[in-house]
Amino acid sequence: MTENINHFDIIIIGSGPAGFTAAIYAVRGGAGVALFGGVAPGGQLLYAAEIENFPGFPEPVAGAELMERMLKQAKSLGVRVFQEDALKADLKTAPFTILAGGNKKYTAGAVIIATGARARWLGLPSEQKYTGKGVSGCATCDGFFYRGKEVCVIGGGDTAAEDALFLAGFASKVYLVHRRDKLRACVRLQEKLNSNPKIEIIYDHAPVEIVGGEKVTGIILKNVKTGAARRLDLPGVFVAIGHAPETKLFGDQLKLDDGGYIIADERRQTSLKGVFAAGDVMDPHYKQAVVAAGSGCVAALEALKYLEEIKK
Ligand code: NAP
Repeated sequence: MTENINHFDIIIIGSGPAGFTAAIYAVRGGAGVALFGGVAPGGQLLYAAEIENFPGFPEPVAGAELMERMLKQAKSLGVRVFQEDALKADLKTAPFTILAGGNKKYTAGAVIIATGARARWLGLPSEQKYTGKGVSGCATCDGFFYRGKEVCVIGGGDTAAEDALFLAGFASKVYLVHRRDKLRACVRLQEKLNSNPKIEIIYDHAPVEIVGGEKVTGIILKNVKTGAARRLDLPGVFVAIGHAPETKLFGDQLKLDDGGYIIADERRQTSLKGVFAAGDVMDPHYKQAVVAAGSGCVAALEALKYLEEIKK
């Protein structure tokens, strides 16, 4: 297949496990492949301190290391990895056009969208006010600043559990605040939480207000069953309440479901022929690295098939 300086058979947008797996399969299938992966390729897993459910790693592996390996693998197989964001995409007509850094234009016969998801926020005005001043959405980025201090993590899923465990390595105490009486996190993580003496789980509480002066000094919680208010005095609030699909570049061009996920069939074909989607951007259910990787594989195989078909 063909590749010139600005045209590729397949352009992949996104550099998580879905994007890199798609790139690896597409390039091995003989396509000229470009991947736009942002300034720091790797996606959400860059912020995962330890991964112990990606096959092939008997010891836990840091997310950043896993992604570095995927990046190296893709590059060594011949994928052109652009460490810049795709800024605009015109997916209405083939060849599809992607505008990237410096308004440079790239075209492709097929596009695979693997832009993943971005962290969700609580939506409290005080949360916005204190972002970067005690409120964080990234435990692995900011945990270090809370050595010997008390912090809380909001959320009850795997991310919140992993963040709490990671923060317990620095902080003197970690409150995990969950709005229900049962965690959503997997059993293994729950066991780890329960056996960590630095972690206290506060069930049935929702955050109402983050308080402070220049910086955060505490958080007000409400017991969702009794309505009673409770205040925790601490300088760090970590928000880990899930993720929303990252579709801002394409939302007006592709069909999305009610949750904002790209609608793609089992072949990862979206509502536009030749445009495929893989990983968390189209997966409202599983959101696992290994599922995203498999999804990227399917998208690449289908994109290769599509390119063969349109050549006939
Ligand atoms: P998640 O599973 O959707 O959990 C989000 C949590 O935040 C839930 O407990 C939810 O409460 C709570 N929440 C949502 N909105 C809230 C609000 N406004 N106020 C207070 N709490 C709120 O998200 P996640 O933990 O980021 O995980 C996403 C996916 O990635 C999951 O499929 C997970 O398995 C996967 N993941 C896997 C790993 C791993 O395998 N190592 C690590 C991280 C993530 P409710 O429970 O009441 O809904």
